[in-house]
Amino acid sequence: MNENKVIDEATNKQKYLADRFTKIIDKYELSHSYLFSGESGVGKLAMALFITMGIFCPNTTNGYPCGNCDECRRISEQQHPDVVIIKPDVQSIKVDQVRYLKDEFSKSGLEGNKKVFIIQDAETMTNGAANSLLKFIEEPGNNIFSFLLTTNLNLILPTIISRTQVIEFNHLNSAEFSEQLKQLGVKHSQINLMNNLTNSINFVRDWQTDDWFDKVQSVISKWFDSIANNDAEAFVTIQADLMPLVLDNKRREPIINMMIACFEDVLNSKYLKSNQFNFPKNENSIIRLANNIQSQTLICILEIILNCNQQLSINISFQNILESITLKIMNLLNQ
Ligand SMILES: [Zn+2]
Repeated sequence: MNENKVIDEATNKQKYLADRFTKIIDKYELSHSYLFSGESGVGKLAMALFITMGIFCPNTTNGYPCGNCDECRRISEQQHPDVVIIKPDVQSIKVDQVRYLKDEFSKSGLEGNKKVFIIQDAETMTNGAANSLLKFIEEPGNNIFSFLLTTNLNLILPTIISRTQVIEFNHLNSAEFSEQLKQLGVKHSQINLMNNLTNSINFVRDWQTDDWFDKVQSVISKWFDSIANNDAEAFVTIQADLMPLVLDNKRREPIINMMIACFEDVLNSKYLKSNQFNFPKNENSIIRLANNIQSQTLICILEIILNCNQQLSINISFQNILESITLKIMNLLNQ
């Protein structure tokens, strides 16, 4: 086995695509232009580099690059003179960058006759840049391959889409996503909850700003503990601790979903005897509640919180919604 990071990333994150592309490479059936679409973090760049290694590597096995030769090494380090990678200049990819690309590709390969270009965040191409790329994608020349990568297919011009082969990348499976979360510095105690709430690395990055996620998780954890102890402090927690963290309307849904995740912990503890909690700090309250609560009550609680997602669109203050949930849950637990 080789120890090439790019090969590892491409084959771990998108095994199916990696296998499919090695077969295509093996049969010399690679198209000239691909458009890779998928969430940030799903391995689009790794896949483009992996395929590029397959094109250049002299020691492929069934289309798999060796990962160790000079070509493979320089491509995976993004240091190969015939593999040009374009990233947005500040916020957009401008005509000048595409012109540079075209100049690059009008020259034949520096070392051989093959050339690859990779455009990251292709949705940020200005219209001018995209239009100037069109003709080039259409008639790329024999040994020229291009990979356009995007997180938002809707923002790519239809004329570009129609000239490329679009490959949609799957979300990462939960083990791979957890691995990504670890690399992003997400705390161990947050991994299950984060994985439960999203599979988008972009959301994760946003939620991590100013430790927002960490703060909300602690506040909801406190709220749940109060409820489990039948303590009216739960209302104070909403008003004093939680409301200041509702920075904008986009933050309301994850907060509600975290409340649901608390009671999912109770459900999982009761029926699956699982201890993979969303809120590991609440372990004691979760287990105690799970042992005492009737299934019917638990289902009612989950329904109450789930239903409030619909109220979000109506003009009721978020604080009122959360207080009303808290009151209903505490009443149910007191019956
Ligand atoms: Zn190689």
